[in-house]
Amino acid sequence: MAEDLPPREAMEFDVVVVGGGPSGLAAAIRLKQLMPDAAICLVEKGSEVGAHILSGACLEPRALNELIPDWQEKGAPLDTPATDDRFLFLTATRAYRLPTPPQMHNHGNYIVSLGNVCRWLATQAEELGVEIYPGFAAAELLEEDGRIVGIATGDMGIGKDGQATETFQRGMELRARYTLFAEGCRGSLSKQLIHKFSLRDHCDPQTYAIGIKELWEVPPANHKPGLVEHTIGWPLDKGTYGGSFLYHFGNNLISYGFVIGLDYRNPWLSPFDEMQRFKTHPEVRRHFEGGRRISYGARALNEGGLQSIPRLTFPGGALIGDAAGFVNVPKIKGTHTSMKSGMVAAETVAEALAAGGTQDLANYETKLRESWVWDELSLVRNVRPSFAKFGLWGGLAYSAIDTYLLRGKAPWTFHHAHPDNDSLLDAQSAPRIEYPRPDGVLTFDRLSSVFISNTNHEENQPAHLQLADPGLAISLNWQRFRSPEARYCPAGVYEIVGADEGDPRLQINAQNCVHCKTCDIKDPAQNINWVTPEGGGGPNYPGGM
Ligand SMILES: Cc1cc2nc3c(=O)[nH]c(=O)nc-3n(C[C@H](O)[C@H](O)[C@H](O)COP(=O)(O)OP(=O)(O)OC[C@H]3O[C@@H](n4cnc5c(N)ncnc54)[C@H](O)[C@@H]3O)c2cc1C
Ligand code: SF4
Repeated sequence: MAEDLPPREAMEFDVVVVGGGPSGLAAAIRLKQLMPDAAICLVEKGSEVGAHILSGACLEPRALNELIPDWQEKGAPLDTPATDDRFLFLTATRAYRLPTPPQMHNHGNYIVSLGNVCRWLATQAEELGVEIYPGFAAAELLEEDGRIVGIATGDMGIGKDGQATETFQRGMELRARYTLFAEGCRGSLSKQLIHKFSLRDHCDPQTYAIGIKELWEVPPANHKPGLVEHTIGWPLDKGTYGGSFLYHFGNNLISYGFVIGLDYRNPWLSPFDEMQRFKTHPEVRRHFEGGRRISYGARALNEGGLQSIPRLTFPGGALIGDAAGFVNVPKIKGTHTSMKSGMVAAETVAEALAAGGTQDLANYETKLRESWVWDELSLVRNVRPSFAKFGLWGGLAYSAIDTYLLRGKAPWTFHHAHPDNDSLLDAQSAPRIEYPRPDGVLTFDRLSSVFISNTNHEENQPAHLQLADPGLAISLNWQRFRSPEARYCPAGVYEIVGADEGDPRLQINAQNCVHCKTCDIKDPAQNINWVTPEGGGGPNYPGGM
């Protein structure tokens, strides 16, 4: 097929940024602040900047203060200061308040819609002259003589059969002296770069979690603007890492999310159903009473921390933000560190461009190691792995010692033993989990949830969820694990049909995909490869998410 296509048109830039999240936008803005005449282009696969942004979000404004010190006067949508932190341990019927760990103190932070913050950052970038192209997915790396020289956006109007349809439009080559990859957690081109340049040779495997979120509008009587509540415990068992967040903000809005470490072992576990049943807890349901659910979405996040940061640069470019993985897990925050990494990368690129634009960006990594990002991640590096090592109570006890007594300076570092796709038990040796049926008021099913994520994909296009070996879907995933993808996918994309007739087959409803990337991470044999669908496809998260 490829040889039948017309050649692509090319555009030349100084820098191309892939991804319009906080890290990509911060990088683009910093570059323009330093080099007003530089030609900077940013591509975003969502239909608009913000359409694919899913976060909590409680924002620590440290990086923003450095990037745009007068953000308040410029109207940044940081309207709800965090005023009250609550940290709870839940049993099935009770809630116990625990001392809030220092990392979870949110004084000075803001509860925001990160999508709206990104929309605002995009206007700031455009005012400085950054060219932003939403609705364009970076689908292919451009490489010449071992150097990355830009990306190509995906072709539009290719049918399921691989042939051009009447809406066919060839992708563009966006060529640049430097390309910054800001695709967020488990970026599809970033994954190729990590492999191509062996960027993970000297670090631990990355580990992940899935975060599933709902946005609710509640009666004013239930609403306490500025309340930040986190829980651990029920409904998860003691060997499964995770918990909830509830942020009250804006105009009677609650951002509710449940996060589960993807190193979970029981293949019967369904993160979506855990998230739904959590709301039925007496301590939790009162937040939602009389309210209405406005939106829904899901996204993976990095949990590996310092030990899992790959080499950040390669000839012609760098990884920034969650594409590399700078989330501070005990804080459940990665926006400020992602932005800072983008800013430091931009400063290095500006120096490199001024010096001719051919040298590598190794200085970016050196500078980042000297920045507060590294200090911050270093102090918490043992917290998340301690839960994998010692379970819930052991992890809590260890983290208290590490934080209060050792102050993050333990002379040892715990490592992540294996990647998340390695952790599942066989289905027959794991306890089955029965989940309650949704009531349609407080709890919901997958399809009505995906509906309010406004997810949309052109149906006639090649599959963007590619199975390297289609046979494994049954011979391994079904036979051994009873198809965990049917449970961990928060959008009902993977369905087993024909099992009752003794002929199980995997059906992939790709048009429902909310781009969370969980299948790319958790599939036991790494048989599922997520590639970009046509630009503009995927969720359309509204303002507020
Ligand atoms: C449920 C959840 C709750 C969280 N809560 C918080 C919180 O309260 N506070 C906090 O600070 N952090 C939180 N985080 C983490 C925070 O959201 C991330 O650290 C941050 O968004 C990372 O920014 P980024 O720009 O690197 O990536 P992202 O925000 O993921 O943005 C990446 C962008 O790139 C686009 N993109 C990806 N691939 C391509 C491609 N090939 N072509 C074109 N565009 C592409 C995506 O559509 C997206 O818009 C949370 C994360 C989750 C999932
Ligand atoms: S198909 Fe994969 S990326 Fe898409 S929603 Fe399901 S788990 Fe997430």
